[in-house]
Amino acid sequence: MKVMVPVKRVVDSNVKVRVKSDGTGVDLVNVKMSMNPFDEIAMEEAVRLRERGVATEVIAVSCGTAACLETLRTAMAIGADRGILVLTNEDLQPLAVAKLLKALLDKEQPQIVVMGKQAVDDDCNQTGQMLAALAGLAQATFASKLEVADGRATVTREVDSGLETISVALPAVVTVDLRLNEPRYVTLPNIMKAKKKPIDTLTPEDLGVDARPRLTVVAMKEPPSRSAGIRVPDVAALVARLRDEAKLI
Ligand code: AMP
Repeated sequence: MKVMVPVKRVVDSNVKVRVKSDGTGVDLVNVKMSMNPFDEIAMEEAVRLRERGVATEVIAVSCGTAACLETLRTAMAIGADRGILVLTNEDLQPLAVAKLLKALLDKEQPQIVVMGKQAVDDDCNQTGQMLAALAGLAQATFASKLEVADGRATVTREVDSGLETISVALPAVVTVDLRLNEPRYVTLPNIMKAKKKPIDTLTPEDLGVDARPRLTVVAMKEPPSRSAGIRVPDVAALVARLRDEAKLI
């Protein structure tokens, strides 16, 4: 069974992002980039499926500029067997990525796509759902537990009311949540081994996909800075203060 894991290169989650002075987007000059944290969790889960003998091959896919090769190498250091780079300079939006992944799904025929529930740069939370819809596959989103057996995936999902367990027929798309697993540390020997693993490069044209953006960002602004809080000496003072605030509303 093949598992496909899309991995996105995003601004590292520890970086404090700055909006460009012309308000057209986030300033990416000299900013540390990393694999989307949810995709690390997805990759860890896929590698565990292979280690348990459930999966035979783990394929990492990244769509974007040549810099995404670094993200693919990290994926292979975690344990992916090979990588596919869809090389483009387009500003990729979720629908375009979903179409590219759908074309790769047709080509590679994985039984399961395990991917992040959202990318921490755009917070879209759309690509997995769009991919499942385009490919006509079952989807199980926000997975906090995944079991694969007998042509089905049993997925525990984190929903507002608690945990929901569903069973979907494979092939399927599973998007992962934070509590699914704790990704392993990438070791130096595995980084060295990853350098020898194969990476295929394709373009959107090779896959017959028009990856041009459909949405235009009209403006981007920094959130307003928060005013400093106050300290109150005790609970009585806190209650009095809250009463005063309530009167003002
Ligand atoms: P989003 O819908 O943008 O929040 O992204 C959800 C998931 O789609 C991510 O966690 C990745 O698994 C996948 N994804 C989004 N963009 C890309 C990309 N450029 N390359 C590979 N995977 C991507």
